[in-house]
This record gives sequence, structure tokens and C-alpha cells, in this order.
Amino acid sequence: MLTNQLWDAVLGELELTISKANFTTWFKNTFIHSVDESNIVVGVPNAFTKAWLENKYHDHILTALNKSSQGKIDSVIYKVASNKDQNPDQIKNHVANSTKDDQADESKSSTNEAPKPAQNNFNLNPKYTFDSFIVGKGNDLATAAANAVVNKPGEVYNPLFLYGGVGLGKTHLLQAIGNSLLAKDPKIRIVYLNTEKFVNDFINSIKKGTTDELKKYYRTVDVLLIDDIQFIAGKEQTQEEFFHTFNELHQKNKQIVMTSDRPPKAIAEVEQRLISRFEWGMIADIGAPDMETRYAILEAKCHEKGITLSPDVLAFVSENIQSNIRELEGALNRIIAYQQLNNSEITLESVKSVLGSLSLSAKKSGLTPKKIATKVADFYDISMADLMGSSRRKELVFPRQITMWLMREELKSSYPSIGQELGGRDHTTAIHACNKITGQIKNDSKTKSDIELIRQQLYAS
Ligand code: ADP
Ligand code: MG
Repeated sequence: MLTNQLWDAVLGELELTISKANFTTWFKNTFIHSVDESNIVVGVPNAFTKAWLENKYHDHILTALNKSSQGKIDSVIYKVASNKDQNPDQIKNHVANSTKDDQADESKSSTNEAPKPAQNNFNLNPKYTFDSFIVGKGNDLATAAANAVVNKPGEVYNPLFLYGGVGLGKTHLLQAIGNSLLAKDPKIRIVYLNTEKFVNDFINSIKKGTTDELKKYYRTVDVLLIDDIQFIAGKEQTQEEFFHTFNELHQKNKQIVMTSDRPPKAIAEVEQRLISRFEWGMIADIGAPDMETRYAILEAKCHEKGITLSPDVLAFVSENIQSNIRELEGALNRIIAYQQLNNSEITLESVKSVLGSLSLSAKKSGLTPKKIATKVADFYDISMADLMGSSRRKELVFPRQITMWLMREELKSSYPSIGQELGGRDHTTAIHACNKITGQIKNDSKTKSDIELIRQQLYAS
């Protein structure tokens, strides 16, 4: 039997035993690469398919091969190779024949399925689009991968794993994927969330006995966008749950995109089976932007905010703020705040003095724990006594936590000293407060903008 015919027969067999979606995904562009007596080498398009066939479909394939060749095959191995000779219609015929039943199947099964979750797209920030994302050295690969996912969700890179340092655009890119998919198909069920929320929701659901609902919720989405997956470290039960969610979505060819501040292997305290899944699809890193990219981003942000900066100011800022894009935006906000407060023009000189005070250590610029506490109390309209006091009222607890967070961020104060400043609290209270606010900034735009406003006050005079 010719190898083409043999493989065609095998595909015919497999089609009967595997779901259509999986059949299409895993057997597209496969072929018999070579036959050496009773050993067969199956050519596959990529390492991903190779691993999948080896681990999941090997027995199916061997059985089907033996059925079609009257039991002559002893071993099958898989090799990544492109197929120049394969008849391109081979799989197409199979798929075309199966489309009809497929649809019938789906409509049948969907009536038995868990209720579809309500759309959860309100979590997406409409600001974070591909249009507002400047592509340059550092993020071009990640952007290309994100675009590929938008064009073919669930098909090309699944999962897509984006990693990079803080403030380099991971969340922006992740949400841009969501916003684009949503624009293409407003009915698509997209869930975007931060891993901390996933962990908390899961823990709460255990307490409330609503785990089943939560499972159904995540397992019936079309696209799962999960930010900062490194926060799953050490959370064993959540990892177990995420593992099953991942498998189920992946099995159904539903797109999963994750971000992390480090590559999969570098996330400690995560089960190996999860790490290996993180590596299944495409891993793309986002590096620091170069000078040209920073300049372009700054220009775009000015445009967004409706202000104009001269080229020498743009160049000065993008040369001097190198660490990340969040800092770049922060610098721009300070420049704007300075200009508004002083009602003066933005010149290279004024920018130099604003940013100069930034780069000086906070101490030299006159910032003290006391000043932070005073500004926060002013901002929230509470007395210093209340800020330092022990009342657990929500209106007081939140400003207290913001104060501690700012002391940590702006002054790099130690936790014990922060606790001390805040009316002699324990250092664990300070740690808790800082973690809480750090998490909240990511999900809650009000917290974020409060902090930005208070910061402007801190550096305004
Ligand atoms: P991360 O999630 O990696 O910490 P974010 O996605 O929150 O970073 O990005 C920080 C800020 O910088 C956001 O306001 C984002 O819009 C902006 N930003 C990051 N990269 C770009 C880019 N390439 N073009 C335009 N804005 C960017
Ligand atoms: Mg982020």
C-alpha cells in the first residue's frame, strides 16, 4: 500500500474514535514521513503536535495503523517535518465530510451543557487596544504572537504565554487581544482576570460551597485571558483547579493567554504538569523598549492626552526614563501636573527640574513619611488621628493601607518602620497593606487614579 493511501486509511479510522475538533487540530498536516520495514515515522508540523500525538494519540494511531496494514507495524515515531509530497486535499476531505455531523453534534450537546456564563467583558479596559500599542524592539515578537491569536483563536498558539518585567505592556497586550476578539465577534465569551482574583474566587467558592458553579463558569468560556499567572505559585488547590480548567478549554480549542513576570520554568512552587502546559504553545517575552520605541510611545501618550511636547522635551524624557513604560507615563503625568499646578509652559528647563527632582532620592526632595500621611489624610478628608488610630472602619482602613503602600514605594521604607509610622502597628500589617494595594491597583482603576493624584500632590511643591 502506498504511504499516502495507508495514512488516508489511518485518518479514516481515527476520525471515528476522536472528536472532530481534536481530529482537525492534531492531524492536520500529518503524513507518513518514511517507512522502514515495520517501523513508521509520522511527520508532524510542529513540536507541539508531536508531544500531543506521542502522549495522547499514540495508542490510537498504532491500532489504526495495524488495522489498515494488517498488523505489520511494530513501532511508530513522530518527527517534526514539513510535507512537500502530501496531497493537500487529504485532510481536507476528511474534514469536509465531517462538518455536517459536527454541527449537528454541537447543537445537540450544547443543550445539555452547563448554562453559558454571562459575558464578563466589562473587565476589559477599552483603552488597551492594538491601535494604542506601539510596536518596537522588545515587544515585536509578543505583538506578532498576540495578533496571530486574534486571527486564529485556539488554533495557532495555544496557550500563548507572554512574560516580561513590570510596566512593559503585558496587561495592555493581553487586553488588546480581548478587545480585538470582541470587536470581531461581540457574542464571544471572553473572561479576563488577574490570577489573584482567580485564586480568591476559588478559595471563596470552597467556603461557600459554590465550586461547581465556578468550575462551569471558567470551563465554558471561549477565551480565557489570565494576567500575572505567577501568583498561582504555592496555591496548590487553585493549581489543581486551573489544571483541569486549562485541559478542558484546551481540549475544546478554546484560546488561553497568560502573562507572567517570568518564564514558566522560573515560577517556583508550581506543579510540573502545569509548567509543562504553560510551555505547550508559544512563549514570547516582552523586553525593555529601546530609545526610539520610548519616544514613539511618549508621543502617542501625549496625543492621547491632547498635549504637545516639543521634540527636545520628548527626546529628553525618553532618554532619561528607561526602565519601563509605566514610569514613562508616570513622568509624563508629573510633567502635566506640574504644568497645570504652576500654570506654566512646558519647556525643556521645566521638564528637567521636574524630572530632576524625581531622580534625586526622595529624601532629598523633601518627602517624608509624615508628609505622605498628611497628604493622604487630606486627600481622603480624614483626620491624622483617624489615620493613625485603630478603628476598623472601611473609610479609614483603605487610606491607611494607601499610606503604607506609598511609604514603601516612594521611600523604600522597611515594613517595621512603616508599621511604626502608622501608630505603632505590627510589620505584618504593613506587609499585608502593601500586598493588598499592589493587587488592587491592577484591578481597580479608582485605587490607581487615587494614588496617581496623591503622588502628584507629594511632588507638586
Ligand atoms: P505590565 O502588565 O507589563 O506591568 P502594562 O500593560 O500595565 O504593563 O503597561 C503599563 C503602561 O504602559 C500601560 O498604561 C500601558 O498602556 C503602557 N504601555 C506599555 N507598553 C506600551 C506600548 N508598547 N505602547 C503604548 N503603551 C504601552
Ligand atoms: Mg500587568
